[in-house]
Amino acid sequence: MLSPLDYFFGLFSLDIGIDLGTANTLVSVRGKGIVINEPSFVAIERKTQRPIEVGSRAKEMWNKNPKDIMIVRPVRDGVIDKFEVTEAMLHHLIGKAHEQSWVPIPRPRVVVGIPSGVTEVEKRAVYDAAVSAGAREVHLIEEPVAAAIGAGLPVQETRGSMIVDIGGGTTEVAVFSLGGIVISRSIRVAGDEMDEDIVQYMRRKHNLLIGEPTAERVKIEKGSAFPLPREDIALVRGRHLVTGMPTSLEVSTIEIRDAISGSVGIIVDTIKDALDDTPPELVGDLMESGICLAGGGGLLAGLADRVQEEVNIRCWVADDPLTCVARGAGRVLEDYNNLRRLLVGLERGSTRH
Ligand code: ADP
Ligand code: MG
Repeated sequence: MLSPLDYFFGLFSLDIGIDLGTANTLVSVRGKGIVINEPSFVAIERKTQRPIEVGSRAKEMWNKNPKDIMIVRPVRDGVIDKFEVTEAMLHHLIGKAHEQSWVPIPRPRVVVGIPSGVTEVEKRAVYDAAVSAGAREVHLIEEPVAAAIGAGLPVQETRGSMIVDIGGGTTEVAVFSLGGIVISRSIRVAGDEMDEDIVQYMRRKHNLLIGEPTAERVKIEKGSAFPLPREDIALVRGRHLVTGMPTSLEVSTIEIRDAISGSVGIIVDTIKDALDDTPPELVGDLMESGICLAGGGGLLAGLADRVQEEVNIRCWVADDPLTCVARGAGRVLEDYNNLRRLLVGLERGSTRH
């Protein structure tokens, strides 16, 4: 809870949490909640190399892009791939969050989520991008920690808890105890890989050529990781490989589940693997507290049931799993004295080049 004094000062300073995801970038502002939620896409004009659109308008051009525009996804596998583009995106987002304030206020304090296990150079890149995008103060937090705070897990307590954050490019598994990560795993299999599985499956089994955006839609609407109470049919549109004609096909939800089963299996195995390495006392705690799924991939139908069945520990999906990291990052500034020890430091003198 904010005290009246905190609230008063909160009006004059802007505290924001940023989730720089492979798929989506979110900004949460203290006192307002999530104010920006945009796909992590930037459209760049080839001639001038300048960003002309950021977010959903850039994503709409994806796979349909005209020749003079390049569509860039600046965050690959959770780390900054294209520094300048990421900087431009952050600039746009911080500027937009700033604009929404009704009083002239100093430049914001920012907490940005970074995947666990990134290198010092990669951390520095995020830090520098946020500073040059206009932040007054920049802090970094590991994404699983932010996700766990956002999901309301008791990360500060002795009692163990576990988060599985399934994003676009990476899945991160972390077991917490006493405010720290005890065991973690990060793999480059997540939502994008499932989309790719569906593209490959349609090509191999049905001679149908589809794009990633179509595959993603099919996954979100009809994908699953566990038998559904009522199996269904998905209509998939694409180009037939043999005739070259636009074609629509009916595909069952059982087939779609089969198409993504390899990636789902890898994610489940990674959870098992992390559990195998977890000290027995903490496994005991997890049997009580359960496993929490976060990130967009956590919304895959039946995934929580599948995990629960395979590891024999209760598994549930966080409330609003897509916003956990941004909300968790924002929370740190609200309760800075208690939560600051969860932030990660930068080594002195580390540079980007
Ligand atoms: P990131 O942190 O990498 O930006 P997000 O947490 O925003 O990723 O999750 C994006 C991923 O979640 C995408 O691969 C998207 O297709 C997937 N996703 C979103 N909603 C669903 C859903 N209902 N079912 C399955 N996957 C989903
Ligand atoms: Mg994420």
